[in-house]
Amino acid sequence: MSNNKFFQTVKSLFTKKKDQDKEREPEPSVPSREEIAEAPVPEDAPILKVEHLKKYFPIARNFFGKPIRFLRAVDDVSFTVERGTAIGVVGESGCGKTTLGRTILRLYDIDGGTVQFCGEDLTKLKQSAMQKYRTRMQLIFQDPYSSLSPRMTVGAIISEGVRAHKIVPREQVHDYVLEVMRKCGLQPQYYDRYPHEFSGGQRQRICIARALAVKPELVICDEPVSALDVSIQAQIINLLKELQAADSLTYVFISHDLSVVKYITDQVMVMYLGNVMELGATEKIFAEPLHPYTKALFSAVPVPNPDVKMNRIILEGDIPSPANPPKGCKFHTRCSSCMNACRFIQPGYNEVREGHFVACHLYDENILSRSAEIDGEYVVWLQEQIAAAKSYAGKREYLAELERMRPDLYTAWLSAALLKRESVLDHLPGRKKERAHLMEELARMDGEEADRVTAELAARKASKKGSKPPESEDVAEAPAEDEKPDDADKTDDRGE
Ligand code: SF4
Repeated sequence: MSNNKFFQTVKSLFTKKKDQDKEREPEPSVPSREEIAEAPVPEDAPILKVEHLKKYFPIARNFFGKPIRFLRAVDDVSFTVERGTAIGVVGESGCGKTTLGRTILRLYDIDGGTVQFCGEDLTKLKQSAMQKYRTRMQLIFQDPYSSLSPRMTVGAIISEGVRAHKIVPREQVHDYVLEVMRKCGLQPQYYDRYPHEFSGGQRQRICIARALAVKPELVICDEPVSALDVSIQAQIINLLKELQAADSLTYVFISHDLSVVKYITDQVMVMYLGNVMELGATEKIFAEPLHPYTKALFSAVPVPNPDVKMNRIILEGDIPSPANPPKGCKFHTRCSSCMNACRFIQPGYNEVREGHFVACHLYDENILSRSAEIDGEYVVWLQEQIAAAKSYAGKREYLAELERMRPDLYTAWLSAALLKRESVLDHLPGRKKERAHLMEELARMDGEEADRVTAELAARKASKKGSKPPESEDVAEAPAEDEKPDDADKTDDRGE
């Protein structure tokens, strides 16, 4: 058999196999509106119930490709939304608001916890089974410029989902799309136009029309007005409110614009580094925020009254990296009310008033009543962290705290470290900084203890050289390690 013939036979065999497979596996069909409506819905079930939801992104893998470090974008988030209401999700950039919205919709795989939609646990469903819920849960994107295909007309964009999910019979699609456009404030002549012919506000209306055309029950609005002018923002917000009232829609409204959140939502959830800091009714939270982070955040809301003096709370420092969040309360590095407990005990998420949840030790009686005991636990915890840290750089943060809490224990640690490590450090390359820092600390040390350690170090050096230990006057004049000639350091760096 010639080569050519052989390849043709193999190719025909593969084609035949593919055709057989196609026959065996019918295309997954998109469920119709009627099929979706048939799904039983428990009457008292909230439309959305999120419990201990987690989404971690791997940022480092080992040799075998197994993730070893994670960015905890959403970490143990819980909340409930009733039908026909709106919940606002607020927080600084990078706090996990957008990831939360996308994880609820299962656009990202869930790493822990549950998402219940109308009583159905979505976490257990396969992606094919999720089709049933795709029309009932929709997303309005932040950027109306990049979220619309420039090659499709407005009519095609809005009707795409309607046709795919068989929302109305095929012959009624055109009229139905025109009706949705009218509802969203888009004129019928826009049907055949392309997105580039519209302003930002009109584009966002197209995005809203596209989401609402499939008759959703839950809409996740991901910063829907942040890319728009202020006057257009008001139009879009009013449109969303009208549509909510008309169709009993439920919104998860993600935004960093607190004035908008105050206007449109029934409850507010404040997020920081993937955790919920505070959750409660919008009026209550705006009237009396409890969490120090919420207080700082809400103090920035402008007051439309020139006679009212604003008491801005300016937070110090940047938001820490979610890849390496602080231990204990994640907000403790920027909190002006930080206590020792906050540095090593993660605050619980407690209901401090009816329907008002706060994750802060200031509202935890158990922590407040045990403050002396907790100080002792903190010192023990610091010692454990110092012992566990692999590098000196990793220990320094805890050593500074140990010195603040218990200077005596810090001095004892420093003496032991100098006596134990000084000779080792002399021979290790790349440890110049560590040695220099230990010597600086020695210079700061209390006089008597410093003299004892210096004498001990000098004695060891002298015994190594085979000479007598110097007298005490000589010890005081012994050159510090960082005053060694350059040549000595060069020798150390080469490890020779
Ligand atoms: S737990 Fe402590 S650090 Fe965190 S917000 Fe409350 S007071 Fe501040």
